[in-house]
Amino acid sequence: MSLVDLHTHTTESDGTYSPDELIRAAVDAGIGTLAITDHDTMTGYDQAAPLAKDAGLDLIRGIELTCKYAGATVHLLGYFFNDAPPVEFENWLEELLEARRDRNRKLIANLQSLGIDITLAEVEKYGRRLTGRPHFARVLIKKGHAANVKEAFDRYLGESGEAFVEREAPTISEALGLITGAGGVPSLAHPTRFRKRLEEAEIAEFVDAGLASVEAFHSDHSSADTERYQTIAAKFAIAVSGGSDFHGDNKPGIQLGTGINGNVFVPEWVVPGLRARSR
Ligand code: AMP
Ligand code: ZN
Ligand code: FE
Ligand code: FE
Repeated sequence: MSLVDLHTHTTESDGTYSPDELIRAAVDAGIGTLAITDHDTMTGYDQAAPLAKDAGLDLIRGIELTCKYAGATVHLLGYFFNDAPPVEFENWLEELLEARRDRNRKLIANLQSLGIDITLAEVEKYGRRLTGRPHFARVLIKKGHAANVKEAFDRYLGESGEAFVEREAPTISEALGLITGAGGVPSLAHPTRFRKRLEEAEIAEFVDAGLASVEAFHSDHSSADTERYQTIAAKFAIAVSGGSDFHGDNKPGIQLGTGINGNVFVPEWVVPGLRARSR
């Protein structure tokens, strides 16, 4: 028996494990099937693929995209089981990265106007392919402006924080169209984390726009949540996905493969269920 984890981040986005470190940790944790789902980039997957092959680990190419829905943010996972997405999709990702850079410049300006001594270069030192708010949080903590990541988001970086800047992002329908158009399988990430939890009505709407799966197993979920989303998936005849949402030290307490104190267990049947929806 081996574990499955279809939601993980590397240093190519806002995780703290490099792609190779993540592969080694996955093998050590007894994971047989792993997806790398970095925000807005697939370079972590590309880097990890050779080592995963050598280690006999089934590595799935994934991505996590931030989308707009009803005036708030919703995350969408995409899994590419067959070929890499076409160049148009890669170009679109480049535009997302540019929107992120623009947001980062504005965020620095806001923090500076609050009297905080911080530069973009200091924050970018922690990011590689992209710089995200968890990297900002690290600098704010290091400089004594927040005691921990939660406080950095509550006070400065989060939607209610003093320095918050909205990032340009696709609507959920646009992102669903782009992922499916590129041959991927879109799955709604951690549906309880939206402003109000996403329920049947919203999921029905997303299924009409091309949603093929919902993340039923996740480290945010109670066992009742996991059951609830499996029931919803069955009702709409879509697949389920699942993973820990491992970020290394950027989200301490979440273990690769098993989540928070073992609250994640992704059954092996999830993988063929998703794969069957790819092309
Ligand atoms: P970004 O993509 O740069 O806007 O940053 C999003 C990242 O920040 C995601 O990995 C989130 O999990 C993390 N994040 C968002 N809000 C919070 C929060 N309130 N506390 C901790 N992490 C957060
Ligand atoms: Zn993340
Ligand atoms: Fe997410
Ligand atoms: Fe994630």
